[in-house]
Amino acid sequence: MAEKGLSSIAALGYMNNRCGYCKRTDDGSPSYFVFCRSLTTDDYIDLMNRGWRRSGTYIYKPDVLHACCPHYTIRLDAQQFKPAKDQRQALNRWSKHILGEKYIHEAARLHPVSKEEKSRRKNEFDLVHSLHECESANVKRPPQPEHTFEVTLEPDTFTEEKYALYANYQRIVHREEPKSITRKGFKGFLCSSPLVREERNVSGRPQKLGSYHQCYRVDGRLVAMGVLDLLPDCVSAVYFMYFEDLNQWNFGKLGALRETALAVEGGYKYYYMGFYIHSCIKMRYKADYRPQYILDPETFAWTPLDDDMKKRLETRRYVSRSRDQRMGFDANTTPEEAGVKRIPGTEEHETSDETAPPSGKKRKTRPPKREKSLFKVKMPGVMAPEEVEASLDLGDMLLQTHIVPYPVPARYLVSWERGTASDTTSMKGAFAQVAAVLGPNVAKRVVMAMPPPTSDDYDEDDDEEDEEEEED
Ligand SMILES: [Zn+2]
Repeated sequence: MAEKGLSSIAALGYMNNRCGYCKRTDDGSPSYFVFCRSLTTDDYIDLMNRGWRRSGTYIYKPDVLHACCPHYTIRLDAQQFKPAKDQRQALNRWSKHILGEKYIHEAARLHPVSKEEKSRRKNEFDLVHSLHECESANVKRPPQPEHTFEVTLEPDTFTEEKYALYANYQRIVHREEPKSITRKGFKGFLCSSPLVREERNVSGRPQKLGSYHQCYRVDGRLVAMGVLDLLPDCVSAVYFMYFEDLNQWNFGKLGALRETALAVEGGYKYYYMGFYIHSCIKMRYKADYRPQYILDPETFAWTPLDDDMKKRLETRRYVSRSRDQRMGFDANTTPEEAGVKRIPGTEEHETSDETAPPSGKKRKTRPPKREKSLFKVKMPGVMAPEEVEASLDLGDMLLQTHIVPYPVPARYLVSWERGTASDTTSMKGAFAQVAAVLGPNVAKRVVMAMPPPTSDDYDEDDDEEDEEEEED
């Protein structure tokens, strides 16, 4: 076990994974994978801001340069967000459905609003108010509304009620075979977060941190659920699901608005909607939430996901704004001029899933062959050996052995002094690679598990289908 307050991780390495977003199998979807026994929210937000994301008990950083469908990290400035017309309409329609015509008519008579309030509501749309007005606790009675609607934030534990919702969503929306939808799969993917749950005081108010399920109930029945990671300064959407009979209410939109409002009300500031894959048409809606920012894969600076950026993503498979600036590239630069791959035509993608990583649903149980050296891959956002050595003392990195119950500095390893950072066959080189992809801040704090986890640690979906897919 890791010391209290420290993340405990085991690096699995750089792997070429099957892409869940297109049918291509040639270059696939390579990522660097890490298994987490525990992960602090401080470490995770640092990692997210370097292009990482969580799937169950794993975190992974996609190789944006070499992927067939590059995954870009995006975030919405929730405080600055102004809902568009279609988003406001979705909210109003849902409110009307919950309250009912009869209630709205009667309530207007029994609980009149002042002229000032009326004109204020007409002139500016109040997202938080509009979201909460049809919730059971805020509905003025009498009269009785047509339905009761409640939204609660609950720990991410497994229940049969949640599983029934998940199974329906996977079957209907993702057209998944019923036999491949399992309780074990649901638990591993959405109910087994390694994030350390805690409560902190932020500007005098308690703030929840960790993994949660935001549950939407109508007349007591669980109809929708958002899986969320609450982190310092952000609400991160992991997954969202709703029952098929709610299809007409645009619940995907309602969920995103609700989660944006949570970021505002809870003082989290940003809303991370998962990766943005420009070549995936069904993901383009994420850019409709503005102001949206995209993470530069090389410098980790945030730049606006505006029309100019979209035009660059339209023609070039890999875009780094900082590189563009350095090289004098603009929205008219061709892939050949920039030396990157051309977008091979936009695909109608099989999976409509906004936030599910490719490894979430169709993860292979045994990782494919690893690349020997991460430094040779030329993956963006990975430090070179010299940069690693300049930014931290590798010997200080913490290691959990089986010999003593507490972590020890890596320099205690017998073979430590014989290796170099760039020799990835040595211990020092192995630690340098992990530090290069985690970044110096997280590398200085985490405890590295040794030896790497056995197959039991990551074998969550060992059902028949996966067994057949294994490559030895
Ligand atoms: Zn792809």
